[in-house]
Amino acid sequence: MQDNKGLRIIQKIWKSEPTIEGAGVHLKRAFGFHELPLLDPFLLLDDFRSENPADYKAGFPWHPHRGIETITYVLDGNVEHGDSMGNRGNISAGDVQWMTAGSGIIHQEMPKGNSKGQMLGFQLWANLPAQTKMMDPRYREVKKMQIPLITTQDGASVRIICGEINGTRGPVQDIITDPEYLDIELPAGKTFTHPVKADHTVFAYVIDGEAYFDPSRTPFAHDAAGINYFDMQPPCPCGNGTLVLYATGGSRVSITTDKHSVRFLLISGKPLREPVAWYGPIVMNTHDELRKAFQEFQDGTFVKHRQ
Ligand code: MN
Repeated sequence: MQDNKGLRIIQKIWKSEPTIEGAGVHLKRAFGFHELPLLDPFLLLDDFRSENPADYKAGFPWHPHRGIETITYVLDGNVEHGDSMGNRGNISAGDVQWMTAGSGIIHQEMPKGNSKGQMLGFQLWANLPAQTKMMDPRYREVKKMQIPLITTQDGASVRIICGEINGTRGPVQDIITDPEYLDIELPAGKTFTHPVKADHTVFAYVIDGEAYFDPSRTPFAHDAAGINYFDMQPPCPCGNGTLVLYATGGSRVSITTDKHSVRFLLISGKPLREPVAWYGPIVMNTHDELRKAFQEFQDGTFVKHRQ
């Protein structure tokens, strides 16, 4: 493979799959329980876009989280939320809620859509290391205006939620798994190159349009799952709803567009390499810790920290 410039190559590509979550929300899951531990420290990525309120109006009523971070990024419509710490608010178009559940919160998340009934957003789950799973919960509410939007020399427009490009840092900082979370728009006929840390898990998720995510334009160079046969002719760009997981070992990623533009999320983080015990919205290291969490939830002693 053409790795002579330190470019990361694609390890595997696949498409997000329809599933039902919460109280009956029809969404697409890019990865989750079944991909464990491929995307460590990340656990799950849901794409809840729809033009039909029936798909999302049931929402995600009161439920607990412990041991993880949930990161909600809304691009259209809004998500009403409330929690056991007394927070109430809206995640509106362009906003991010970076929620560290730590020892536990109970919250609800209710997508409301825009005036046309459209909803577009993503929720990412990041795992917490054993030593911080029981930390005090914490919210970072990031409004659209706080997220820097920069234009690179390559002509890419990048919203920096977490991470750094050319000295501009995103508002979410000091997260334990050292993540980067970028929302990138690249016009047709351009190349965007970005440095990544050698030991970090790096993936992209295509929101719209299409691009080539490594120097190889043949799908047969990659382990590809859930891709339709008609996608398999080289050159094979990755389109809407495609998850691109990079192989480790390489200091940069390079994304190239041809006739079409692309918009994608580029996310990276330091793997934890710890045992994972996961049931629903609670992710711990051992089954005993899981049992304790659900027992506490039943007993009403789940929430350790109220403010
Ligand atoms: Mn939740």
